Amino acid sequence: MKDRRMTILALLMAAVWLAGCGRKPVEPGVSQTLARERAAHISQVRYALAFRLPEDRTEPVEGTETLTFTLDGRREVLLDFREGEENIKSLTVNGKSVPVRWEAEHLLLGKLPKGENRIDLAFVSGDQALNRNDGYLYTLFVPALARTAFPCFDQPNLKAVFSLQLDLPDHWVAVSDGSLLSETVNDGRKQWVFNETKPISTYLFSFVAGEWKVAEETVDGFPMRCFFRETDPDKVAQLPEVFRQVASAVRWMEDYTGIPFPFEKYDFIAIPGYQFGGMEHPGAVQFTDKRIFLNPEPSVDQLLSQSDLITHETAHMWFGDAVTMQWFDDVWTKEVFAGWFAAQMTGPRFPEVDTHLSDFKKFNIPAYEEDRTEGTNAIKRPLDNLSDAGLIYGNIIYDKAPVVMGMLAARMGPEAFREGLQEYLKTFLYGNSDWNDLIAILDRHTPEDLVAWSRSWVSEKGMPEYCVDKDGAVRQRDPWSRGLEWPQEVDVTGIGEVRLLNVSGKGYGYFVHDSLSLEYMMAHIRDFEKPLERISLLANLYENHLDGRIPALRLARFLADFAAAEPEPLLVSTALGYLGSLARHGAAALSPEIEGLLESLARNPALGKEQTTAFRTLTGIAQSPELTESLYQVWKTRKPWPGVTLSETHYTALALELALRLPERGESILEQQRSRIGSADRLREFDFVRPSVSPDRAVRDSVFNALLQPENRRVEPWAESALQYLNHPLRQAEALDYIRPALEALQDVQRTGDIFFSKKWVAATLQGHSSPEADALVEGFLAAHPDYPPLLKDKILQAAAHGRRH
Ligand SMILES: [Zn+2]
Repeated sequence: MKDRRMTILALLMAAVWLAGCGRKPVEPGVSQTLARERAAHISQVRYALAFRLPEDRTEPVEGTETLTFTLDGRREVLLDFREGEENIKSLTVNGKSVPVRWEAEHLLLGKLPKGENRIDLAFVSGDQALNRNDGYLYTLFVPALARTAFPCFDQPNLKAVFSLQLDLPDHWVAVSDGSLLSETVNDGRKQWVFNETKPISTYLFSFVAGEWKVAEETVDGFPMRCFFRETDPDKVAQLPEVFRQVASAVRWMEDYTGIPFPFEKYDFIAIPGYQFGGMEHPGAVQFTDKRIFLNPEPSVDQLLSQSDLITHETAHMWFGDAVTMQWFDDVWTKEVFAGWFAAQMTGPRFPEVDTHLSDFKKFNIPAYEEDRTEGTNAIKRPLDNLSDAGLIYGNIIYDKAPVVMGMLAARMGPEAFREGLQEYLKTFLYGNSDWNDLIAILDRHTPEDLVAWSRSWVSEKGMPEYCVDKDGAVRQRDPWSRGLEWPQEVDVTGIGEVRLLNVSGKGYGYFVHDSLSLEYMMAHIRDFEKPLERISLLANLYENHLDGRIPALRLARFLADFAAAEPEPLLVSTALGYLGSLARHGAAALSPEIEGLLESLARNPALGKEQTTAFRTLTGIAQSPELTESLYQVWKTRKPWPGVTLSETHYTALALELALRLPERGESILEQQRSRIGSADRLREFDFVRPSVSPDRAVRDSVFNALLQPENRRVEPWAESALQYLNHPLRQAEALDYIRPALEALQDVQRTGDIFFSKKWVAATLQGHSSPEADALVEGFLAAHPDYPPLLKDKILQAAAHGRRH
């Protein structure tokens, strides 16, 4: 009996094997091989999509689709659809109903004839990329999540024309890439038909629907609409200023590129609980409402950050949307221009701010945070499958790449650079290009050898290390021992015995200084007149501290003195940021002293608006009972220290921090804070985060276990906050138990989350920990998983480094 069964099984397996012959196994995700093959043979892609959106977010979203495309010869065609076979309700290929064949996240259409093909589908969408909330939803398909919502060719270089119809509850509104063409209402529902789009990539197709308020304005002849849920009238009153910023960014880009705004319209949506800063869907740009609506008395950093966000997404209309990368390994080519142009546009809007200073703060400082770690990566990295595309993003492409692009622009000169970019855009408008296309065009506009230049800066990881040798010569070293050379000039300032490197702030790297030079910097920083010089010295000091060259307390005292005397707000906030890091990651014995330094800064009227920044830094690190009591009084009476301005969101953060420190009063603090929260969206967020500060270990454990389930991480910023509070520095001993399971969950987090979330998940887990036990747990995890995916391992190494130099 047993033998016979084995024989039948063997025969069956042979039959399966034979049936499978002639066809390669299907790889899940969107592999580069599949994408290349499709891009080579498929063209003229059009999607006509219709979705029925139920008001109840637990009811499924259903859709229909007509997909047409041209094949250059008879061949096998695969559509990407991550949901299972059971989600396809009907499939018609060229007019004939056919059985559904689904394998490894793909719909197999079989061999299709040369010429135009038409596929008709009815399906149930997966929820992952629909971001369904009570009262609203928004799609977010970057980098390859359109395939969770509908079957498609989910790769950036098969651009398509999309037309869309939405069936909505009659009290909802909606916005998509195309403008509204028609509306019909019947039986409590309404049908909205949207205009077809220009050719766009699947990751840029989007719609937003629900209960949204809509504001309209035309500035400088450019009409715009904003969809928002904010209820605070003071915040809503900021919208005219936001419209002005959008319109001026559009006009600036038109002028620079010589190409008129390349899409039909510019609507934008300010979304609560949004997982990114923004996303550049043409015609329906998404922003996090936190950076669009500012709190009263915003700091210079907050004003710059708002402007950077608006200009960044606007620059993407040209770089990213109209001209798109072939594959996500070149996603940096769109991010670098968005970041770089954002800086070019934001600078002149703030004449009181030194642009070189704000660029250094915005780009160099966060770039160093990752580039100094063992988990750093090259700007351009190979990517085999779009299921890993989210891991390509990080400070290296957002912050280091614009520094490198600035060097390139300086090498070429501004006019040649601009001419090159204009040629590049005109050549590839509404199409796709890669880095080689760009560098080949730029190369024609300059005598410089850009290909050689870009090798070390773009294709290799890490940054150069510099020191001055005994003869006074500057030496460059590759800390990764590859013998790599980075073409770059580095200035040396000699003052007596002292040699200071990169005072100008124009160089990028780690500049090693001896103790004499470091002491000189700390004693004489005020003598350096340019703000860029002072921030470059600050960065030098901090990086040398991380390398063990300045004791933490020495640096902390210097930073406090510096912040109290420095006139530039951006430099004060930089010093405060470094002080906060020293308090969080330094030895516990230092914290009372750093706390005292920060408290005196938060009470010092010389800091102006940066007093509020100092106060907020202080609330995150406060430990002494006296200070905690004083913060409690601020929260209770809602009377901040003179000079400090706090809004509802600050008081909510303060209440959560106080609940952590005052367990016996925690519940009443949180209950009272809850009653002070004015908006339903913010109340939902508060209720989600609140149990993560509970004094009861069992409650916190249950919050942590809940976060291991994807459905509880749906609103990523909320999940991130909860994970941060669970791993708060004051709770780190008890939170050691969360480290291993949080790391074990990381691959699932990557699969079920949006592009930035794996990085945020691991950072929220590890940033509150600074013990050898925590380090050992991370090392133990990596040792136990020797074949762990390298891109994901880098995220762990970046988060675990805590500022230490690798
Ligand atoms: Zn971007």
